[in-house]
Amino acid sequence: RAKRARSGSCVFYTHDMEDDAFAQLRLESDLRRALERDELSLHFQPQISLANGRVTAAEALLRWQRPGIGMVSPAQFIPIAEETGLIVRMGEWMIDAVCRQIAAWRDASLPVVRVAVNLSAREFVPELPAKILDALARYALPPSALELEITESVLMSNSERTVSIMQALRDAGLRLALDDFGTGYSSLSYLKRLPIDTLKIDRSFVRGIPDDHDDSALARAIVGLAKNLRLSVIAEGVETAEQAAFLRDAGCDDMQGYYFSRPLPAAAFTLILRTGQPPASA
Ligand code: C2E
Ligand code: MG
Ligand code: MG
Ligand code: MG
Repeated sequence: RAKRARSGSCVFYTHDMEDDAFAQLRLESDLRRALERDELSLHFQPQISLANGRVTAAEALLRWQRPGIGMVSPAQFIPIAEETGLIVRMGEWMIDAVCRQIAAWRDASLPVVRVAVNLSAREFVPELPAKILDALARYALPPSALELEITESVLMSNSERTVSIMQALRDAGLRLALDDFGTGYSSLSYLKRLPIDTLKIDRSFVRGIPDDHDDSALARAIVGLAKNLRLSVIAEGVETAEQAAFLRDAGCDDMQGYYFSRPLPAAAFTLILRTGQPPASA
């Protein structure tokens, strides 16, 4: 139990740690079953064009309804899914579910908006483009229906291979966005050779706008960088009218955040598609 000491070596093993380890194991095995038990679902958060205030796209975000516990945040379970490799099957589920939903909107004669999907480093294998194109074909969707969001950490693992996979995806007509931009440690020179369409300004910079001088300056600099590289730029985590106004003046193309809408279940997002307007301005 509590603290054990053996022949000179001291094992710091407390009751709490044992509970934590146990809870971690439970979480892992529950997560393993989540797919089979249909406990995963999708939320959609609208992305708003600053040019016309309309919803032009959505980001799909995974949700896990854990029995007896409730909604578990992806910030908690994605890292475990990555460690255990479960992320690969989850990613396949995610791509299929997103395509199925886009096809359902199309079949209901609603405007087809592009949906952005997050990808982890472990999903970035040479088979990825074929898997995604298969899913699109299953639902008769054009590749332009999807955008893939990757973070700088994806580039760190095996950048040569990653860049060629990205190139294949882009050649096939998918859009690519660099998520959480500005929080990684890579050098800026990699931006030159990356086949991407969009920079997504990380929420940590948006948070301090407009009062924090450094955050505001960095957000403005990222917009400038994107423009000069002829990339589109979107800000995530926009929570206030002041942040939205600042980013609009800075030249940001699109925005996403609680100010416009929280991530929504598919049914609620469908209502937004009917009007083309985010709920805040409706
Ligand atoms: P992310 O891709 O950067 O997604 C944005 C996160 O910010 C989402 O958190 C979203 O709900 C939250 N957010 C949006 N607007 C605001 C705002 O105005 N204020 C604040 N404070 N937060 C806002 P969420 O849904 O908890 O997802 C967290 C992260 O989990 C995502 O960060 C992404 O990295 C990862 N994730 C989610 N779904 C998937 C998935 O299907 N696959 C993979 N590989 N990762 C996923
Ligand atoms: Mg994202
Ligand atoms: Mg992000
Ligand atoms: Mg982020």
